[in-house]
Amino acid sequence: MDCLFCKIIGGEIPADKVYEDDYVFAFRDINPIAPVHDLVIPKKHICCANAVNAENSEYAARIFEAVPKIAKAENIESYRIINNCGEDAGQSVMHLHFHLLGGVKMGWGEDSLGKTE
Ligand code: AMP
Ligand code: ZN
Repeated sequence: MDCLFCKIIGGEIPADKVYEDDYVFAFRDINPIAPVHDLVIPKKHICCANAVNAENSEYAARIFEAVPKIAKAENIESYRIINNCGEDAGQSVMHLHFHLLGGVKMGWGEDSLGKTE
């Protein structure tokens, strides 16, 4: 399958790995928007949040179990998790991923940290 994140999981494309277990892979975003900016992804190809279902929801659960461990490894107690689902929301890679952002005081609303392009 021609999926960038599947290739990263498979080791075909290098990434700065921060965490891995049987279900979850996490690595540093190549274009960080915060001092800590990791991508937390399922080790199974799920295109987006819309495709999470009873059959694959174990992966979603495992992602949320892994997040506190990743945050701890990155030395942050406070963080934001973002999922962009679909084109209008800014999803550019069609493999489910959660942005884990931290290491900076974040605003909300107009001041919020996010992509503007
Ligand atoms: P999204 O726009 O929500 O789909 O997020 C995709 C993210 O993947 C962006 O923040 C990119 O900077 C990041 N990204 C793209 N290619 C790579 C890569 N090879 N290694 C790490 N992060 C990447
Ligand atoms: Zn994939």
